[in-house]
Amino acid sequence: MSIDPRDGRLTWIEIDRSAVASNLGSFRRLLSPGVALQAVVKANGYGHGIETITRLAAVEGVASFGVHSVEEAVRVASLDLGIPILILGYVPTTDAASAVAAGAEVTVYNAETLEALSASATEVGKTVGCHLKVETGVGRQGIVAADLPSFLDHLCSLPGLRIAGVSTHFANIEDTTDHSFARLQLERFRELSEIVIDREPKAVRHCACSAAILTMPETRFDMVRVGIGLYGLWPSKETLLSCRLKGTEPVDLRAVLAWKTRIAQLKELPSDSFVGYGCTYRTSRPTRIAVLPIGYSDGYDRRLSGTGSVLIGGRCAPILGRVCMNIAMADVTDIQGCRLEDEVVLIGRQGKEVIGAETLASLCNTIPYEILARIAPQIPRIVVD
Ligand SMILES: *Cc1c(COP(=O)(O)O)cnc(C)c1O
Repeated sequence: MSIDPRDGRLTWIEIDRSAVASNLGSFRRLLSPGVALQAVVKANGYGHGIETITRLAAVEGVASFGVHSVEEAVRVASLDLGIPILILGYVPTTDAASAVAAGAEVTVYNAETLEALSASATEVGKTVGCHLKVETGVGRQGIVAADLPSFLDHLCSLPGLRIAGVSTHFANIEDTTDHSFARLQLERFRELSEIVIDREPKAVRHCACSAAILTMPETRFDMVRVGIGLYGLWPSKETLLSCRLKGTEPVDLRAVLAWKTRIAQLKELPSDSFVGYGCTYRTSRPTRIAVLPIGYSDGYDRRLSGTGSVLIGGRCAPILGRVCMNIAMADVTDIQGCRLEDEVVLIGRQGKEVIGAETLASLCNTIPYEILARIAPQIPRIVVD
């Protein structure tokens, strides 16, 4: 007899295997043959669990994985999937040897990084694939245009390094339907990537995140970096609107993650009772509350105090009072038949009701990326079919 991995859990995340396959399929259908699809799995796979999501994406045949850090690269490399890994973030010079040992490709923009990687690579007789990140307008990581020729000279003079790619990132693509700044960045990228291609014709050019792939096909080049779309979310309302304005058929995306917990206590409070820290909520009628064993330390945002809802018995149950570190309270007065340890949905579907990460994001005045990325890593991720 199999044991349900949800048994005995206070809270857990369910990862929908077929949604991962469906979302990757939706993106792949947009791409011309020869355009590689990189699955971006940084930030613990956008909160989905880096190992869980990496394994599922590998089955679908992605070309590479994009991670932020050396630590993430080591975790993905230890799965032994035989799929290239690109570190998108900063590699401390002291960690160059770990990046080399993990066999990862590295995004480069500092001379010091080149030197550290070269030294580590030659020591073990390996070659590190370097992706030059060029500054085109985000004002974040990247080589400024004036430094690119000398940076290339430096890279080419060092043993153990090879030019594997050239990349940039868009500043203003998911926040607006006006893509004039993105087009300007794209022009700069064309010019700068030419300089790199002149040195290494096989360098992979890549700049497109989910929103760029969806709204500006000319950004796809040789490879695209799919993050939020892989997890079944639109990057923003503006991205969806941009597709509609351009008359392109919006792709079908299915949310991959559901977040659940159970009722830890049910009780009746008389009218005029306070609920939670700060006495911010006072009942105006006899109220039945469900105590939930989740809180902001799990990633359930404290800004949902008095504003969020959960799903219980297929109905919406409002959060009463403040979200605590490990506990929150929901109003179930109007929901019949609740029982101790009944399943509660924080994000996901129950019956006809759905709470999306987008809903929580708008209540918290943030973006769905943040809601997902901050779900505590120690919560178990369970793959469901
Ligand atoms: C996170 C990230 C992406 C993925 O962006 P989405 O909007 O989630 O698709 C792509 N490229 C870089 C450099 C990133 O840091």
